[in-house]
Amino acid sequence: IPLDLSKFCSVLVHEIQLGAGSSHIINFLVAEENFEPKVLVDQKLLTHILINLLTNAIKYSPKGSTIELQLIYQPEKIIFEIKDQGIGIPQKDQKQLFNSFHRASNVGDIPGTGLGLAIVKQCIDLYGGTINFQSQINVGTIFTVTLPLTLV
Ligand code: ATP
Ligand code: MG
Repeated sequence: IPLDLSKFCSVLVHEIQLGAGSSHIINFLVAEENFEPKVLVDQKLLTHILINLLTNAIKYSPKGSTIELQLIYQPEKIIFEIKDQGIGIPQKDQKQLFNSFHRASNVGDIPGTGLGLAIVKQCIDLYGGTINFQSQINVGTIFTVTLPLTLV
C-alpha cells in the first residue's frame, strides 16, 4: 500500500515522544516539503528500524536533550537521519557496532543486549539500503539510513 511517509514518521515520532515523556524532546523535520511522494514501503520494516534507532538515541542521551529525525527525499531513495546529543561512540568500538552483542565501552550501566543494531543492519541490507553513522564522544551521534524508494 502506498504510504505517506511524512505522515507515517510524524505519527511514529509522536508516539515515541509520548513514551519518552518529558525526558527528551524529539523533533521531526522534512527537507523539501513540497516534494512528498507516496512510496511503497514495508511499514513493519520501517517501524522496526526507526523505533530501534530512536530508542537508542533516547537511551544514550542525557535527560533534557533533543533528538531529531529528519527525512530527506531524493529521486530514487529516502534518507533518514537520526541525530542525538548523547554519549557518542568511541572510535575503537565503531568498526564492531553492527556486530551482534557488541556494546561500546562507554555504556556504563545503561542496559542493553547489543542486538538491536545488528538486526536493523540485516533488515536494511536485505532491502538494498545502507546504514552509516558519525559520532563524537559526548557531543552526539548521527545515524544515516538510506532506503530505495520502492520497497515492497
Ligand atoms: P538492545 O539490543 O537492547 O538494543 P543495545 O542498545 O546495547 O541493546 P544496539 O542497539 O545494538 O544494542 O547498539 C549497540 C551499541 O551501540 C550500544 O550498546 C551502544 O554502545 C552503541 N550505540 C547505539 N546507538 C547509540 C547512540 N545513539 N549513541 C551512543 N551509542 C550508541
Ligand atoms: Mg539498542
